[in-house]
Amino acid sequence: MLDISHLNRPQQEAVRTHRGPLLVLAGAGTGKTRVITYRMADLIAAGVDPERILSVTFTNKAAREMLDRTSLLLGRTMKKRPTISTFHSWCVGILRQEIDSLGYPKQFVIYDRGDQESAARKALQVLKMTDTALKPGDLLAQISRWKMQGVMPDLAQEIADSDHEQLAGMAYRRYQLALKAAGGVDFDDLLFLTWQLFKHHPEALERQQNRFDFVQIDEYQDTNELQFRLIESIVRRHQNLCVVGDDDQSIYGWRGAEVKHILGFKHSFPAAKVVRLEDNYRCTESIIQLANQLVAHNHGRHEKRLIAHRGGTSVVFREYPDEQAEAEGVVRDIAYLIHQLNVRPCEIAILFRTNEQPRIFEHELRRKQIHYRIVGGQSFFDRKEIKDLQAYLKVLVNPRDDLSLLRIINVPPRGIGDATCERLLARAVKEKRRFWDVIPDAAAAGEITSKALNNLRQFEQQMSSLREAFKQPGVKLSETFLRMVETTGYAREIERTYRSAEQQEMRNLILGEFANAVSQYEAQSRSPSLEGYLDEVSLGGSDFAAPERPDENAITLMTLHSAKGLEFERVYLVGLEEGILPHKRSVDEEFENPSSVEEERRLCYVGITRAKDFLTITRSQSRVKWGKKRETKPSRFLKEMRTAMETIAAREGAGNDPAARSGKTGGGRTGQPAPHGEML
Ligand code: ATP
Ligand code: MG
Repeated sequence: MLDISHLNRPQQEAVRTHRGPLLVLAGAGTGKTRVITYRMADLIAAGVDPERILSVTFTNKAAREMLDRTSLLLGRTMKKRPTISTFHSWCVGILRQEIDSLGYPKQFVIYDRGDQESAARKALQVLKMTDTALKPGDLLAQISRWKMQGVMPDLAQEIADSDHEQLAGMAYRRYQLALKAAGGVDFDDLLFLTWQLFKHHPEALERQQNRFDFVQIDEYQDTNELQFRLIESIVRRHQNLCVVGDDDQSIYGWRGAEVKHILGFKHSFPAAKVVRLEDNYRCTESIIQLANQLVAHNHGRHEKRLIAHRGGTSVVFREYPDEQAEAEGVVRDIAYLIHQLNVRPCEIAILFRTNEQPRIFEHELRRKQIHYRIVGGQSFFDRKEIKDLQAYLKVLVNPRDDLSLLRIINVPPRGIGDATCERLLARAVKEKRRFWDVIPDAAAAGEITSKALNNLRQFEQQMSSLREAFKQPGVKLSETFLRMVETTGYAREIERTYRSAEQQEMRNLILGEFANAVSQYEAQSRSPSLEGYLDEVSLGGSDFAAPERPDENAITLMTLHSAKGLEFERVYLVGLEEGILPHKRSVDEEFENPSSVEEERRLCYVGITRAKDFLTITRSQSRVKWGKKRETKPSRFLKEMRTAMETIAAREGAGNDPAARSGKTGGGRTGQPAPHGEML
């Protein structure tokens, strides 16, 4: 039996409840993730075959941590492993086995946002809808909503209740057909097609039902309709489903997640046992007090108690005249912590709401030579060169992927010009054939020059020998990758682009990091393959997704959305202004849709409760927008937390009250290098 004596009573109860539906509904930092980790170890210690357990986490990083923790708790490495993954990677696994019954190739590629946009644009072009009000971005948003409700194109057109939706329905059909023909699936398809599979192929569903006897889900408040249906179908027989979550941390409403699933769990599973956890082991009392007061302003939530277990003083509010001063102030503070107080950089995080915020912080961090890693903002994988290299790999995996092929067919230039490609593409579209397949006919009809034909043949030859090279048994992917970069001439192209000495770093970064990412994947994967690598990258949360500096030495810059589930000793929550947190979009639609501001409030609650020991909240009194400096309004959340702030200020020493401090800038603690003693 696993020793669980250091868990509290309700935690123990949840860990020891092995069978039947179980809901752990509890506030931030109460040990929900800890409970399901222990529970998995407890199941295995009780003799359950690890391979019969599925545990769904929110990021791949969390999945890996859970696996390590479980081994640690069991005191041994497991010969057989439980499946611990995100919803999306779980579905990729199923589709790689079963997708052919839906008419897709098993080597399907996962489209990224850029691929999706070009597919959407093309669908609108084909339907001659480019002049309508329907923009590719809007179309994709609508398609995503339909998919998350399990709606196929036929049904979409049927239920459309406006001309606009009718048009979108037609474009949806086109889009979906084009993807299927190219052997491509988008991110939502991973869930959507798995659902189609379960619905239309009962034998496939049965195989999944027979795979797992125990299923558990972390961050259950952020599951959407489709994820709920998928899980409900596979646990239908045994109902051994344990979910943990916090309705106050539901922050993906915009992506279709519905709090109703967690609040209605007992309705869906009437036999469910509900366990509540109230003791927070993460944050100091002041941080909890602040979080509690803020979230109490939301309606329609489950009233929860959150009791702090840790004393200590820890909350500071700072106001700066402009965003430059805000970044300087925060970074000066961090430099002080690292250099004077020897705080480990990995214990520090700056959390922000929008993607425009980090740039100026990055600039300051570089100036002060503080290492940082950025999560959830612009990623390494958005660079043109990285996308090109990925396109190469995608074409190698799936020769039908014309979108990726067209991206790289003449990069670096190899004498296959735009005119040639356009003619071939026009023929391919007209005859509903693949790009490669129409080359002989096009050549016979004199549509392409013999020189172009030669170059095409040569390129095709090169790609097929690389395809073979990657398939060799026991092949080292990273070495073959470097060979690919050389033989295709891409390495030379990069050298040409980043010629100067200063650019050498970039040159090394691109190729070096990509090769590192591939070999890191190789080292950690059970049966590495090119497909597997591309899946990892597409699934985003992948930790191979960015050049990693040694974790210890880097502070973290992170969006609030990606901070969920994590904890740091010190958190800087920046930009507490109307229009940032709460976000402008939610403020704009507040009157039609008051719940949008509630979601922002939950996001702020998530941010506050990431802090273990110290929380610094900042705002700037002005900000440059569209080239003009404008005054900002303090976030309403500051006002809502005012009494807690006052109590904390009285307890922790005067001067922390935002109201009392508003208007003061530059003097006192505001904008000062933050001698640490003052924070205490
Ligand atoms: P979130 O809502 O943010 O996801 P959570 O409920 O999942 O939080 P955990 O991350 O599991 O909470 O735990 C928060 C912190 O409290 C962790 O550092 C964990 O190790 C610690 N913790 C949890 N339970 C206990 C306990 N019984 N005794 C001591 N520490 C605990
Ligand atoms: Mg958690």
